[in-house]
Amino acid sequence: MPIQVIVEKCTGCMLCIKACPFDAIRIMDRPEGRGLASDRPEGHGLASFGQSHSQSQKKAIIDLNKCTLCGACVPACKFKAILIEKTPEKCSLPDIKDYKGIWVFAEQKLGKAQSVSYELLGKARELADKLKCQVSAVFIGHNLKDQLDELIWHGADNIYLVEAPEIANFQDEPYTRILVELVKKYKPEILLCGATAIGRSLISRVAIKIKAGLTADCTGLDIDPEKKILLQTRPAFGGNIMATIISPNYRPQMATVRHKVFQPMQPDKHRKGKVIKEAFDAAVYESRTKLLDIVEEVETLVNLAEADIIVSGGRGMGGPENFKLLEELAHALGAAVGASRAAVDSGWMPYSHQVGQTGRTVAPKIYFACGISGQIQHLVGMQSSKIIVAINKDPEAPIFKVATYGIVGDLFQVIPSLTKKFKETLKK
Ligand SMILES: Cc1cc2nc3c(=O)[nH]c(=O)nc-3n(C[C@H](O)[C@H](O)[C@H](O)COP(=O)(O)OP(=O)(O)OC[C@H]3O[C@@H](n4cnc5c(N)ncnc54)[C@H](O)[C@@H]3O)c2cc1C
Repeated sequence: MPIQVIVEKCTGCMLCIKACPFDAIRIMDRPEGRGLASDRPEGHGLASFGQSHSQSQKKAIIDLNKCTLCGACVPACKFKAILIEKTPEKCSLPDIKDYKGIWVFAEQKLGKAQSVSYELLGKARELADKLKCQVSAVFIGHNLKDQLDELIWHGADNIYLVEAPEIANFQDEPYTRILVELVKKYKPEILLCGATAIGRSLISRVAIKIKAGLTADCTGLDIDPEKKILLQTRPAFGGNIMATIISPNYRPQMATVRHKVFQPMQPDKHRKGKVIKEAFDAAVYESRTKLLDIVEEVETLVNLAEADIIVSGGRGMGGPENFKLLEELAHALGAAVGASRAAVDSGWMPYSHQVGQTGRTVAPKIYFACGISGQIQHLVGMQSSKIIVAINKDPEAPIFKVATYGIVGDLFQVIPSLTKKFKETLKK
């Protein structure tokens, strides 16, 4: 028996009941004379252990059908009356030679493929060229026909298409089952997914089911030229270092990437691809949760993620009142205003404007970094911008290492003159 209640020690205090997240413990009367070892018949599914007692006593009984052996009850029991014996699960290594190709989970909302899917396909295409393999999109939903060409034009060689009315919108359980089944059947070498609310919820479940590693929130992906494995780079230790993570023994190698970290490839309308339709038993589409409604978020936040131009300010702005300078420049350019965490933490700008590791990831056509030093946690949120203009009085500021154009000077002089010049030029 992997979990046992030692009856002599159990006082029926019920602490274990509170600790059990799976509602698997009951305090029940142990009738007189019930005996040694597991006091239930084999297969009954209830666990306790101990000597017989002369009187009926209230003791903990564990329902093995509900217990997951998570161990939460063990430290909760003050009387050391619960024992768990975990035999380490034998994990057989998959034969990695059987796994081929790069897959992208193509997220859709209300039947429309999301832009993160195209960004991941673009990156997958680049990686596939190094591995000399194909790129496939997994597309789950209903009535998705009109989106298929776009996925192919953006880099997919194959689309695994699963359509049914029950799965029109994302639900954790059916989507997880479908993706797990497809992975088991086709064995992709790499599986990429957006680090979106949907992607994060889905892919962690999939990773657990197929016993694969998962690197979340990658900011860089590459292929090791010799070993041909995926190099997954992401900030670690609070963003103080960039760690490159590998999954050499298990497949698929799985990673999530935030929206706007990678660029989609230019759509190529001459590309051809194969659509592989898959269908499953009704049980696969079942869900214990029910989707009642989808309510569109009222956008109270600045739409930084979609802005073509962003003018961001950091601690160098000196105070909240000086963000007016940035707003004027942003107004002249039709830009959104962003901020570094230092500016947000100082209460100069609301969090919704924060760019960086713990804020938004952005990739506008032009990013102005004003009075921002360029620490790694800021850079990971904006370094994919096409043009970066840095304004800083310190010529050694790290922001200049990523800047396309650097202006060394006092922002209180530089910003107003830029605003003036842009206003004049754009008027013409
Ligand atoms: C776990 C973790 C997560 C984080 N997440 C984020 C995040 O999401 N986003 C983020 O931005 N940071 C984040 N940070 C914080 C990050 O490490 C930096 O502290 C922060 O980015 C610094 O902000 P800053 O560049 O505005 O300030 P500073 O580093 O203080 O730089 C201010 C700059 O302004 C310049 N300056 C001053 N006065 C003037 C002037 N008059 N004219 C021109 N230039 C001037 C200075 O030369 C300096 O380079 C995170 C940190 C950790 C540990």
